Amino acid sequence: MLGGAVALSSCAGETTPAAGVISGNDNPLLADWHTTFGVPPFDLIRNEHYLPAMREAMARHKAEIAAIADQTDTPTFANTLEALDRSGALYSRVSAVFNAVNGAHTNDTLQEVDRVLAPEQAAHADDISLNPGLYQRVKAVYDQRDGLGLTPEQLRLLEETHKDFVRRGAALDAAAKARMREINGELAELSQAFGQHVLAETNAYELHVTDTANLGNLGDNLVALAAEEAKKRGHDAGWSFTVQRPSIDPFLESSPNRDLRRQMFVAYAMRGDNDNENDNKTILSRMAALRAERAKLLGYPTHAAFVLSDNMAETPERVMEFLDRVWAPALRVAQQERADMQQLMNAEGVEGKLEGWDWRYYTEKVRKARYDLDPALLSPYFEVNAVRDGVFMVANRLYGLTFEARPGLPRWHPDQQVFEVKEADGSHLGVLYLDFFARPSKRGGAWMSSLRRQSSLDSAVAPVVTTNFNFAAPAGDGPALITFDDALTLAHECGHAIHGLLSKVTYESLSGTAVARDFVEFGSQIMENWMSEPEVLRMYAKHHETGDVIPDALVDKLQASAKFNQGFATVEYLAASYLDMAWHSLPSPVEHPARAFEQAEMDRIGLIPEIIPRYRSTYYSHIFDGGYSAGYYAYLWAEVLDKDAFQAFKETGNLFDPATARRLRESILSKGNTRLGMDMYKEFRGREPAIDALLEARGLTGK
Ligand SMILES: [Zn+2]
Repeated sequence: MLGGAVALSSCAGETTPAAGVISGNDNPLLADWHTTFGVPPFDLIRNEHYLPAMREAMARHKAEIAAIADQTDTPTFANTLEALDRSGALYSRVSAVFNAVNGAHTNDTLQEVDRVLAPEQAAHADDISLNPGLYQRVKAVYDQRDGLGLTPEQLRLLEETHKDFVRRGAALDAAAKARMREINGELAELSQAFGQHVLAETNAYELHVTDTANLGNLGDNLVALAAEEAKKRGHDAGWSFTVQRPSIDPFLESSPNRDLRRQMFVAYAMRGDNDNENDNKTILSRMAALRAERAKLLGYPTHAAFVLSDNMAETPERVMEFLDRVWAPALRVAQQERADMQQLMNAEGVEGKLEGWDWRYYTEKVRKARYDLDPALLSPYFEVNAVRDGVFMVANRLYGLTFEARPGLPRWHPDQQVFEVKEADGSHLGVLYLDFFARPSKRGGAWMSSLRRQSSLDSAVAPVVTTNFNFAAPAGDGPALITFDDALTLAHECGHAIHGLLSKVTYESLSGTAVARDFVEFGSQIMENWMSEPEVLRMYAKHHETGDVIPDALVDKLQASAKFNQGFATVEYLAASYLDMAWHSLPSPVEHPARAFEQAEMDRIGLIPEIIPRYRSTYYSHIFDGGYSAGYYAYLWAEVLDKDAFQAFKETGNLFDPATARRLRESILSKGNTRLGMDMYKEFRGREPAIDALLEARGLTGK
């Protein structure tokens, strides 16, 4: 479906930030890929290939779209909808590679390419969705949809495509369309500036300590990592800490030096809010205002109303109702957690009030006192490859999948691992990449993306998916020991990957994880449930040196402490969800001062000052540099589904019940976006999801 290599000329003569002019024959991004399974030839792709390839791919996409829009034949499902689904194959292929590498292993050149391309890509997307002839053809087919004898999947493709056009402004008049283009272009530029500022602010900060007393009871592995970081940053001795999560979290949990904890905490919380060249305050205020204006153009009262009308939750009111339902019990539990820590802190002779930078430190002390659970004792049982094999084992028991290492396949970084994924009968299912460790070239967080989506319109196309993490890299040749939370994250992203891999649909646009924002986290979060079950822990949590299975006593402690600190975790998450909803519920396009706006919303919900939102506005990449605007609530929404769905396995008495696993695969995970999320869920569960299992799992059931 990707066509052959063609000699190109359209990029010649253009000035590009990546020097040099690359012809199609020399540009591996535009050539045929003669690699095993057709994976991208990462070993051949250089920085200077991206910009000309992206521009050429856009140009070809434009020509394909013109051919569909300008044809004189009567619009049909085949010559319009299927043709659209086929179009842009080269552009999808090249941009998937660029986005993956720019996210996981960027550099100054790629960031510059991204900056240059952002407005061009936004304009390209608008050229398609605001093309009047194209929309008229889609609408003509849509208007006669009931008489066309379409299959349910074809009907869904038609409805989804028509809806996308309308939501992108296709039905607007010319003046409104022109304004829409301006807004989209400006939003694209603001959003990528926001992301680059967050990365710059995160990389800029360093805390260098030379006194071991300041390390407290930090595990040996983490001490070694901090020593390595110090060397990397040009120090002869000592230990360096950064505001990347794998570095700052253990420091805040371990260091008895309250002033250093405060410095780290403040540095983390103030990213993008330092009134320097990386400040994000005016950028995000402008983005919220532009989104409000765009929603109005499209006939919605707010951006949140616009976004949610295309989600399982449907309206902002339902989201707020849902958040409120969990907020009150979560805040009560967090206040109790605070009281416990305040008492401990004062009993230890530290006077005054507990602060934000004390929370993690005393949480670990209470955890140890109450459950006698020392993270340093746990970590030897969570070596990253052992955890990965645990996830693979769960996928094997549920769906019969097997994973074969293919170290010879091209990668974008030597740390990356590649696996061929096979069905129970040994047939090829797809390819899975895993990129585990944090580095300055990688953006924060963990995510999955598709390098190639499954489809079967003209021929069977097997999926190629990547997963990315920010685990602490091993020191030297040492083992990569991760935390139990990291193990859940590994399962989470592999859950997204499996959702992409199990897809069995005809049309690429409906494939795999291309589902509603508040449904997509179901496929990932459901996988986390198995990882903490004692039966499963004993299968994968093995000591990295002795191979001994995790002792029962540790499993018991892990189980007993599962609900510990859930007040804090739920409150910081909900605070960020409310903040997201507030920014996207502006009734008019007004730019609000970011700090005051954020504070007002936190005051409204009654957030206690010892907790800050999981993301403050100025580094809230999910909503200002990702696809989660008015959508951060989706993780907890999907947790209602995943906890309820996991109950379906527990009710059978078998965590790997074959019939339930088959239903999960057939009703949901293989179906992509070919049906409504709620309909798929009801088919799997026999009823709508219930919230009880979520509240129970988080220990929030008290009155
Ligand atoms: Zn996810």
